[in-house]
Amino acid sequence: MRYRYLGLLGMMLVTAVFARSEPSGDVPEPGSVEDIARATTEPRFLSPWVSSIPASKTVVSPRAFLHRIPGAPGELVTSAQAYEYCQALARSSPRVRMFTIGRSEEGRDIVLLAIADEEGIAHLEALKAATARLSDPRLTDENAAQALMSSARPIYYFNAALHSDETGSTESVLELAYRLAVSEQPMIDRIRKRLVVLINPVSNPDGRDKQVEWFYRYLKGKTDRATLPRQSPPYWSKYAFVDINRDAHQQTHETTKAIHRMFFDWHPTVVHDLHESVALLMSWNGTGPYNPNIDPITYSEFLEMSFHEVQAMTGLGMPGVSTWSFGEGFSHLFTESVAMNHNAIGRGYETFGNGTAETLRWELPVADTTREWYRLLPPPSEPFLWSARDNVNYNETGALSALDFAAAHSQELLSNFYRKGVHSYRAGLEQAPYAILIPADQGDPARVATLVGRLLGQHIEVGRALEPIHLTDGDFPAGTYVVRLDQPYRNYAVDLLTVQQYPKEGGEPYDDISWSLPIHYHLGVMSTADVAVRSVKIAPLSEAPKIQGLVQGAGKAYVLRDSGQESLLEARFALGATPVEIAEQSFRIDGREYPRGSWILSDQPGLTARLTAVAMALGLSFEAVRSVPAVARHSAPLPRVGVWVPWADTDSIGWVRYSLDQRHIPYTYVRDEDIRAGHLKDRFDVLLYGHVDLELAEQIHGIPKAWGPMPFMKTAATPSFGTPAASADITGGIGGTGLSHLGEFVEAGGLFVTLGNGSMLPLESGLVRGVRRDLGGVPRSTTGSGADSAAASQQAATRTPGAHVRVSFTRPEHPIAYGYAADTYVFRQNYALYSTPRRWLTMAYCTGCLDGPVDPRGVVLEWGDHSGAPFVVSGQAWGEAGLVGRPAILDMPVGRGHVVSFNFNPLHRDMNRGDQRMLWNTIINWRTIVEGH
Ligand SMILES: [Zn+2]
Repeated sequence: MRYRYLGLLGMMLVTAVFARSEPSGDVPEPGSVEDIARATTEPRFLSPWVSSIPASKTVVSPRAFLHRIPGAPGELVTSAQAYEYCQALARSSPRVRMFTIGRSEEGRDIVLLAIADEEGIAHLEALKAATARLSDPRLTDENAAQALMSSARPIYYFNAALHSDETGSTESVLELAYRLAVSEQPMIDRIRKRLVVLINPVSNPDGRDKQVEWFYRYLKGKTDRATLPRQSPPYWSKYAFVDINRDAHQQTHETTKAIHRMFFDWHPTVVHDLHESVALLMSWNGTGPYNPNIDPITYSEFLEMSFHEVQAMTGLGMPGVSTWSFGEGFSHLFTESVAMNHNAIGRGYETFGNGTAETLRWELPVADTTREWYRLLPPPSEPFLWSARDNVNYNETGALSALDFAAAHSQELLSNFYRKGVHSYRAGLEQAPYAILIPADQGDPARVATLVGRLLGQHIEVGRALEPIHLTDGDFPAGTYVVRLDQPYRNYAVDLLTVQQYPKEGGEPYDDISWSLPIHYHLGVMSTADVAVRSVKIAPLSEAPKIQGLVQGAGKAYVLRDSGQESLLEARFALGATPVEIAEQSFRIDGREYPRGSWILSDQPGLTARLTAVAMALGLSFEAVRSVPAVARHSAPLPRVGVWVPWADTDSIGWVRYSLDQRHIPYTYVRDEDIRAGHLKDRFDVLLYGHVDLELAEQIHGIPKAWGPMPFMKTAATPSFGTPAASADITGGIGGTGLSHLGEFVEAGGLFVTLGNGSMLPLESGLVRGVRRDLGGVPRSTTGSGADSAAASQQAATRTPGAHVRVSFTRPEHPIAYGYAADTYVFRQNYALYSTPRRWLTMAYCTGCLDGPVDPRGVVLEWGDHSGAPFVVSGQAWGEAGLVGRPAILDMPVGRGHVVSFNFNPLHRDMNRGDQRMLWNTIINWRTIVEGH
């Protein structure tokens, strides 16, 4: 019944139309033409390239294997089924090989198919070696490159199922793989002969399996879009949700690691990531501004390829294929960005997915259906039905047109790939800066080593100076890390090690606009214009140096000088029951200054051994002193930590859990129902609530109860549910009951710590009084203001979309400030803004009623710089006047407890390592904060 618009006559027409344009050289597998036509909602949503499945006597087709066509309505393959098919394909076709390139957090394989003609498959190792040589102009001069290119091939990589509720890509690439292996039509024969096609059918298998089970449990058979329940499980993998696609620089997720391993093994010319959102197919490239550290060739290549797809698919009569109008092209922090950042091409599609395998009826917003230069055959303006097969038709036709382009331009693509490496290398050879120096001896040498590790992970070459360095721009000791810029990935090194300057007139960015590692890590680096740096003797590093601390001497007590070390939280937990005291003022021993925040440990049996273990593992240095220093100090007992993860949004808090797990910090995972159950003070001293992309009502009431009960439990039918946490019903949030339990927790002496928009909950629910949501320059009412003034207020609106901006401690003696200068900076995305607290707020509207007096005692850190430094450190900010002077961290007493609310996220995607200490300080010094320090 779902296909009532496509009656029998329509079916016959479809069959007739596509039977006429059947690609030459192929015989359709019997029944495949009819199956595909039946699953396609309108003939214009199909192309002749994918209107049948070619028959093969020897190679098993996905239709024969799955007993259905890919994209059949109401069905989805699990990762295991997809891999079984890939194995069957590789076993039955001499044109296909299968490899395992990684293993997910939950233990599932991540696999790769390689497809080429028999000749290509026989020489895969040689083809890999050729692209590897082309990637490094130091190994391959112009003549050698020309010789290599005559036998090398571009390697084109497709990545499917990164975002789990975008389900069509896996189905599409299984059929694509088969078609590429068996079709004898000339276009595909040329693709096979000139390229190597790599396919990762399920790049995030943990999420795929959860999503497939979710579909069968909650969505199958439901076709009324208005009444569909939540379309995705609460987790896609152990830590990440959408943010699995924001991991290119830091390489933390197993999916990213597998893709990067693939990249440096194969050196693909193109990395193409398949997503779903925009009708009907959007080929990414971005409207600018563009990143100055990406070779201009890359941007023209990806525009050219996208226009080819628009032209080819529009020429086949498929409406709604567009390009350009998506993202900006400045930030390359996404999965395919490994290619952009390493002289290859990173691309992506947004096709139109239903978020379910069922067919749904759509009516698009008018703005999405207009005729534009980048979308000359727009998607339907009238209501239409869209099926999973329609999505497969678009994905696969697009992929074939991209491969057709790559095959036709194979020599040009290889030549550009080589040339970009030459440009990058020669830029470092011929123009300043010639190197970037990273002093090893900064406040936190372990953090310096981590930064070096991140560069090495990106195949950026780093060495360690074997001798003192004397340059016109400064002297550096032996042991300094040196990133010489005469290397093929020089451009990426510059991008990661210098600040970002996003143009103020540059339009709205899509994601973060600052990723500079020294800024994220609060470390100093120096670019040198002195070419003499090239004659410094350096030892190349193959892995991040291991920083080992030590315990010096023996005495009545030990001190640990606070120089901003990130590892103090881990050290505190590693010391367990050992008493630790923290100095509240600076003190001197033998002329040496120890700032406030430094640790003091009185000697006791076994202490030296425990300190030695911690010092060795975490790169900390403890010094014995003759007597316990006479300085104001407080004890820092171990807190019982809970991390509340609302079922409605687990994404950003996934990174909080990741950061804590990496540092071996014990904590309890707290679900909505645990908050509802109350007695929180009996279980926790500190309750941490991270950033969520939810408004206040959603933070409290969560996933609508109307969809419940919605179990997320491991069962025979849903074996992948229940990790990393399980629930008998994920709907309903904490509700009013939970909110009052949170209040009781704080009133009874708990410390509630909130990050980013998680701070909405205490500040706007009434848990904390006297703080008002600040609209940052946007008038409270825009009623009747018209489009122009709405645009003007948008311009004035405060935005720091992933930028580094200045802050100042208004209470530099507060424990949160330990390890920091009074004026510093932090990373900020766009969050709700709050005003400086007042004693009370106006309670009724009248001209004579004013707010109570300002009470800034709760402000620990505020936006802007007291010493007058420019507000933006890296990235860009808009409407900063709406931010400067407002609280960046509030510490507000409530009953016997405290609420510490951050107006930023110090645990942003494991990037802003230099901001983390503010949160670590909050946890380590919880007792002192609660006691009203
Ligand atoms: Zn996506």
